[in-house]
Amino acid sequence: MARYIFITGGVVSSLGKGLASAALGALLQARGYQVRLRKLDPYLNVDPGTMSPFQHGEVFVTEDGAETDLDLGHYERFTGVNATRGDNITTGQIYKTIIEKERRGDYLGATVQVIPHVTGEIKDFVLADPGEGVDFVLVEVGGTVGDIEGLPFFEAIRQLGQELPRGHACFIHLTLLPFIKTAGEMKTKPTQHSVKELRSIGIQPDILLCRAEIPIPEGERKKLALFCNVRPSAVIQALDSENIYAVPLDYHEQGLDTEVLDVFGMKDTAPAPDLTRWKDIAHRLSHPDGEVNIAVVGKYTGLTDAYKSLVEALVHGGVANNLRVRLDWIEGEAFERDEDMIAIRLAGTHGVLVPGAFGERGSAGMIRAVQFAREHQIPYFGICFGMQMAMIEAARNLAGIEAASSTEFGPTSEPIVGLMTEWTRGNDREVRQEGDNLGGTMRCGSYEAILLEGSKAAEIYGGVSISERHRHRYEVNIDYRDRIEATGLKFTGLSPNGVLPEICERMDHPWFVGVQYHPELKSRPFDPHPLFASFIGAAKERSRMV
Ligand code: GLN
Repeated sequence: MARYIFITGGVVSSLGKGLASAALGALLQARGYQVRLRKLDPYLNVDPGTMSPFQHGEVFVTEDGAETDLDLGHYERFTGVNATRGDNITTGQIYKTIIEKERRGDYLGATVQVIPHVTGEIKDFVLADPGEGVDFVLVEVGGTVGDIEGLPFFEAIRQLGQELPRGHACFIHLTLLPFIKTAGEMKTKPTQHSVKELRSIGIQPDILLCRAEIPIPEGERKKLALFCNVRPSAVIQALDSENIYAVPLDYHEQGLDTEVLDVFGMKDTAPAPDLTRWKDIAHRLSHPDGEVNIAVVGKYTGLTDAYKSLVEALVHGGVANNLRVRLDWIEGEAFERDEDMIAIRLAGTHGVLVPGAFGERGSAGMIRAVQFAREHQIPYFGICFGMQMAMIEAARNLAGIEAASSTEFGPTSEPIVGLMTEWTRGNDREVRQEGDNLGGTMRCGSYEAILLEGSKAAEIYGGVSISERHRHRYEVNIDYRDRIEATGLKFTGLSPNGVLPEICERMDHPWFVGVQYHPELKSRPFDPHPLFASFIGAAKERSRMV
């Protein structure tokens, strides 16, 4: 039977619980164990699909089309294990299930209550089959202890602590040890209070993972152990790491994995970890051969969490080329307010990337960025919305279709981009509708595409058949293919039925690729996505010229 590790957070949010969980998963993997990571999100939304990226950050899409928390992206990148719909649950989903059951009469007249019904659903989710041979299931509880909406989740994991066989559960609490500069002291009180709160609901943490700015002095470690009722060796220091891929190494050095194994009585029998690849990547990231600048012209640039996977995929592309990738975040709207800004911000850059976005705001600025990159031979990578903008740019500026637009921005006589139902010959495509994204019309999850033999895309992928994850509602209108291709922008990847454009590229340009899907979701540090590796390679070429 799998063993369960519950990761909770205290004191403040944003301490990096997702990253800590992912890093621990990676360490257990490095010892030869199989892991699965799951996330419990106490908010009431059914999934983050309808939340503003400014509120929630990126929506991470799984292979099977679930819109999930961005922490699942960390899990995948650190462990290489694909997450599924069954690895992220929210209060909204739980209540939805319960209310449906109640309406069907499944509760046979019982009064439906938080305990045992809500907690029961949470436990079922945690215990759902983690897959063949999984040794450890790591379960992260979103939010911080003390949040009202988190209570049923804490109660459920408390119950599991009793219900699982002895030695099969471990509780890790992630906290913050603030350093008060004026007093020159590290403070343990917030952690003590947080653990007190946790213990008052029946959970005694086994391990404290403490985020701190300076190393924990011995006296403070002893004090924490004493007041929080843990062993001194179970007070693990978590300083800021040089980069996120150094986190597993730093945690190992502090003894996190050893302490976890000790909780399970496996410390002496567990194989030593093989951390070679983590050392290698941490070294490569801290010793690049040079750097390139990429301008990201997007919509949610004020919050880089909104583009979490994109940022990581660019880092991976850098790793593939031994380069540090510097990002220049530009709001599309900035290019609308001041046209001179375009040359100022883009002329010296080594690559321009327009990422995913929703709605019209900023799109005119993004279209200008596409035009500038096209005209100045700057490597251009358009992702999802970024491909749609590249199509509209070509249509308006080169094909003479002045009214070219996307129906996402309102009615248009020239729907270069639109809802498939608005223009396809019959609705000959299956659209998965199980997601609850705004109206359930988004194409989410992995879909195949066929690439044109001899295209740059086929060369980059090293084949003509690919599968990538999508998250969008609008499609490029295939009916405009001939007119747009005449401008040099070729449709080099299509859905297997030939109706949905998936990739476009310019033949008259060093590197100009647009993709309708989100390749960043599948990029891994040890397996950089070929498009990102190639894009950064092209940026490197340009960096030699400007
Ligand atoms: N808004 C566009 C659509 O829905 C693009 C979405 C995206 O970039 N993820 O098709």
